[in-house]
Amino acid sequence: MKVGLIDIEPKIFNTAYMQIATYYKRQGDIVEWWSPITHRQFDVVFCSSLFDYTDKSDVPRDVICGGTGFDVHSRLSRAIENCNLDYSIYPECRKSFLWFSRGCPRKCPWCVVPEKEGPIHPVPVKNLNPLTEYVVVCDNNFFANPEWAEAINCLRSLKFPCDFQGIDIRIIKEIQAYRLSQLRHFKRIKFAWDVTGDEQKVLAGIKCLVKYIKPYQLMCYVLIGYASTKEEDLYRVETLRNLGIDPFVMPIDRKDLYQRSLARYVNNKKIFKTATWSNYRQRVLKQEEAGCGWKS
Ligand code: SF4
Repeated sequence: MKVGLIDIEPKIFNTAYMQIATYYKRQGDIVEWWSPITHRQFDVVFCSSLFDYTDKSDVPRDVICGGTGFDVHSRLSRAIENCNLDYSIYPECRKSFLWFSRGCPRKCPWCVVPEKEGPIHPVPVKNLNPLTEYVVVCDNNFFANPEWAEAINCLRSLKFPCDFQGIDIRIIKEIQAYRLSQLRHFKRIKFAWDVTGDEQKVLAGIKCLVKYIKPYQLMCYVLIGYASTKEEDLYRVETLRNLGIDPFVMPIDRKDLYQRSLARYVNNKKIFKTATWSNYRQRVLKQEEAGCGWKS
């Protein structure tokens, strides 16, 4: 049998595709990337998407679609889910994707994780990419995993730099901050300050973390456009700046001019370091009025 994979998010190394490839190749099937020209050559075609904003208008009707970008409830079969990752479908990939846990104990209303993955639970660690240069630690809430200490031991034994996707700064303990500092980090350690009401917990977590890890090694996601005012958005951004931590704005609605402008202002470090928000905002509004801005 010939199995096709449609790559509609070419910047992403899609681990669902890696599992599908392992599953079918193990059965002796051929797995190849799909193209409109070769469509008829395939017996079954999969299309996986992580993002709901990805354009799916060209996806043929007779393919199997899945992933959060299509439907938050879609699931791989248990047999495919249990498969290791076939990194050979992405020969340019130099990282490994590891999950020590799935799910999250929190239920943030803007997040698909609780609905998609349920409560936090440890999971078996999958295989490494033979071409690994660094490891992406994909856990949503690494230190909420009751087996976090074993996970750190495992990462230390691998000796690769780590790129953590999700530390919950509100629950971090001193021992966890210390153990985190014992690892080599590929990029900055990421955490989030999503709502202003979490200020005390977030600042306490930062205080704990910076005992062992320098502030410039930290990056904080700042959610905007959900339930915060513009003043609260700027307050979180400037508080982080003053602490020497890099803020990264995550807009809920990328089409909203304010959200898009603040994200560009904060996330483009050249602008963030040289202009004030009020100057930058005025510049954006003038461009809009002149008909040469984003909305025109
Ligand atoms: S803590 Fe993070 S992963 Fe967990 S529900 Fe909230 S946003 Fe989602």
